[in-house]
Amino acid sequence: MGNAKFHTRVNLLSLLIFFAFSHHLLADQHFEQLSLRISQTEWNELMLKMQRLEKAELHLHIGGAWPLDYLRKIAEPQQFSELSMMLAKIQKGRINYHDAFKVFGLIGNIVNNNERVQAGVEEICKSLLNDNVVYAELRTGLKDLETGLEGHLKAVLEGIRKGTVGTPLKVGLILSLRRETSYPLADQIVDLAIKYRNRGVVGIDLSGDSMLGNVKIILPLLSKAKQNGLPITLHIGESEEETAENQIMELQTIEPQRIGHGVHLCQEARRWIEENKVLFELCLTSALNTGMIKKLEDHPGLQLLQKGHPVAICTDDPLIFNTSLSQEYAKVAFLTELSVDEIDKLLKKIMNYRFLP
Ligand SMILES: [Zn+2]
Repeated sequence: MGNAKFHTRVNLLSLLIFFAFSHHLLADQHFEQLSLRISQTEWNELMLKMQRLEKAELHLHIGGAWPLDYLRKIAEPQQFSELSMMLAKIQKGRINYHDAFKVFGLIGNIVNNNERVQAGVEEICKSLLNDNVVYAELRTGLKDLETGLEGHLKAVLEGIRKGTVGTPLKVGLILSLRRETSYPLADQIVDLAIKYRNRGVVGIDLSGDSMLGNVKIILPLLSKAKQNGLPITLHIGESEEETAENQIMELQTIEPQRIGHGVHLCQEARRWIEENKVLFELCLTSALNTGMIKKLEDHPGLQLLQKGHPVAICTDDPLIFNTSLSQEYAKVAFLTELSVDEIDKLLKKIMNYRFLP
């Protein structure tokens, strides 16, 4: 029984709320990943708090960070629609870790000359500033875009200079090698890193699909970089297929100051990282979207953070995962129940691990 008119109104209202809510869910994948336990209002408040914090980004690949609007402006329509389809697949978690790397090929066809690189890096700096990031380490591999590897490097450094001049943002550049990078190419990149060590380059990154290539071939070059004062950050524990033997060999021979991802680490590798207080670069959305974890709370970096291990919250590829540093901070703050004060302390702690002197 009861008031039929009242019930119709209530049903209509709940229907409206449902549509508004489901629209929000579609519009905000980040809220969706947490939506069972947080209301939209709480999420918005948390986001606001995280946006107000002055943040440091230590793990961001330039090739996965071009602002989407910038790519839309410079791409051919066909290139842009192909890219959009690929990004949608990744952001819905419909792609595996190995296939996700194909997106960098599509992006590379769009940002295909040094002018576009320089302008795009400036745009990346602007979007970091908009998110209240005051310290960032960008990383990139080098390609010959008609003026050799050094031409590419100079374009990136000029983009950083123009994008940061007169702003509170400080940026250092890390040069990336892949495990499958050939010895001659890796040798050139390491030599350039050494040449530009006091002119913007701050370290070396070892990245790419962790199951491709043989790192032993370029180990002497990583030693050379270290001997010349360039610290190393290592992508490791990204694929379940990585063997314990190889993980231990890489950690013990490379002795990285920082590691990226660390989702699938064998016990001994994890112990090594904890004992040596190696900074853990936590890229939460990236791990979820590439299928490294099934749920955000499964990321081992969250437990490490709660144990007091140094953990830097990072985006990895903000374009590819449609994320920002504030969004990553909000997710981690929610999942670990860290207060704004505790997050602020964490930010100060991770600044001790920055590569820029
Ligand atoms: Zn990465």
